[in-house]
Amino acid sequence: MSSSAALVCFRDDLRLADNPALHAAQQSGRPLVLLYVLDEESEGIRPLGAAARWWLGRALASLEDASAAKSGRLVLRRGKAREIVPIVAAETGAGAVYWNRRYGAAEIAVDATLKTELTARGLAVESFNGSLLHEPWIVKTQSGGPFKVFGPFYRSAAQCDVRRPTRAGSHWHFADAPAGDALSDWKLEPAAPDWAGGLRESWTPGEDGGRIALAAFIDGGLHGYADRRNRPDLDHTSRLSPYLRFGHLSPQQVLAAVRHAGEVPDADVEKFVSELYWREFSYHLLFHFPDLAQVNFNRRFDGFEWNRDTKLERAWRRGFTGYPLIDAGMRQLWQTGWMHNRVRMIAASFLIKHALIDWRRGEEWFWDTLVDADPANNAASWQWVAGSGADAAPYFRIFNPVAQGEKFDPQGDYVRRFLPELARMPADVIHRPWEASPQVLAQAGVTLGETYPLPIVDHAAARRRALERYQRIRGD
Ligand SMILES: Cc1cc2nc3c(=O)[nH]c(=O)nc-3n(C[C@H](O)[C@H](O)[C@H](O)COP(=O)(O)OP(=O)(O)OC[C@H]3O[C@@H](n4cnc5c(N)ncnc54)[C@H](O)[C@@H]3O)c2cc1C
Repeated sequence: MSSSAALVCFRDDLRLADNPALHAAQQSGRPLVLLYVLDEESEGIRPLGAAARWWLGRALASLEDASAAKSGRLVLRRGKAREIVPIVAAETGAGAVYWNRRYGAAEIAVDATLKTELTARGLAVESFNGSLLHEPWIVKTQSGGPFKVFGPFYRSAAQCDVRRPTRAGSHWHFADAPAGDALSDWKLEPAAPDWAGGLRESWTPGEDGGRIALAAFIDGGLHGYADRRNRPDLDHTSRLSPYLRFGHLSPQQVLAAVRHAGEVPDADVEKFVSELYWREFSYHLLFHFPDLAQVNFNRRFDGFEWNRDTKLERAWRRGFTGYPLIDAGMRQLWQTGWMHNRVRMIAASFLIKHALIDWRRGEEWFWDTLVDADPANNAASWQWVAGSGADAAPYFRIFNPVAQGEKFDPQGDYVRRFLPELARMPADVIHRPWEASPQVLAQAGVTLGETYPLPIVDHAAARRRALERYQRIRGD
């Protein structure tokens, strides 16, 4: 046991419980220094989008409080991690540095350099898996390569042991913390204009918020999840994505909680677990194909002719396409920083296939507006929808936004929640208001083209155009 300090670097693991790096630091018996570095400067690091910055601000405030409750202090510093971490290590006389791993290429490069530098200075460096069920290199095909298809990946990954989650350790002995930045100086939350009202109403970032959301899901949405997860009008999904993204919960904690949920049908538990493995699969892809957010996984798509149509793109972003399900989804995203998965698929498909706009433009918008914007899940999902990804949706699957709305939001309640201008439309026409009679429109107070737009593209014509465009890159 050494008396020099253990420096714990928090990143996408903003929690005290089941945090392997923190746990190991506590086990070492050294006095702790807790550090968070806001690194937006290292080469290749993608700065967080606006909604995720808001989340981070709240999450760090929560971690500051949690540290203070243990009589410690979270040190905040800003700059290149490879410069800041050695400085803080020197300031605190740390003998060992602990962190949980990250899986993007730029982050891996930063951590590798850091490890070399710290080791050269005689510090012990230990890294752990704090955010995945399995390290991406553990799950391998028979020939030793990465998986490109979800089914076989899942079957193989599910065979691997999953670490049991641990509680927060009891050793809370802190070294003197050096000076740090004030969180408010980082200006992570918007001020003028303050557009985050809907986010504040919708979310409680932090470990406590994650624990509450998990418990609420186990008591509520998990039962019936398999059948109802595709219904945006019913609150049956967990909404745990931002808590997993920022590591307020580990996937091990979530897995253990659903597996011990008690009286829940196996089908619901297994369906939910498979979704957690989609997250694993995305990270597997990101690790093995680091350009996932920029480069078509299927290089044939490099020759795809995308349109540039700023009017259409703006209408999509703001939720004014004239297709109620798409518009409700895009407004849910704008107001709350989150969108239901089924609607994400349909909205993304609309941008790519109806508007023929490059999937990377959509990925960027989601990156900026989602509180759960995730380097692996977002990129992998956009490529999946485009048809350019590993294990992608077939290119010819072009969602009909009306049929999808009528199937998954049959009474139109989801649309009414986010499109107040259609709140009085009856269910039988709410997903296709342009087919409503003048009388029905008048009774609902809707004037098409004024209070709500007419469809910005015709579905049947857009479908033909997309198929024809896709046909060109198939080469047959
Ligand atoms: C175009 C598009 C973009 C997306 N961008 C993101 C993103 O930036 N961040 C993100 O976390 N998810 C993303 N997803 C995946 C999915 O939509 C969300 O994870 C899900 O809607 C989150 O809601 P939930 O927590 O209630 O999910 P639940 O249904 O309760 O699922 C539980 C958890 O499993 C994981 N998960 C569920 N579905 C998927 C999936 N299809 N792919 C990967 N992981 C999944 C998530 O971590 C989720 O929290 C995207 C999907 C699409 C189609």
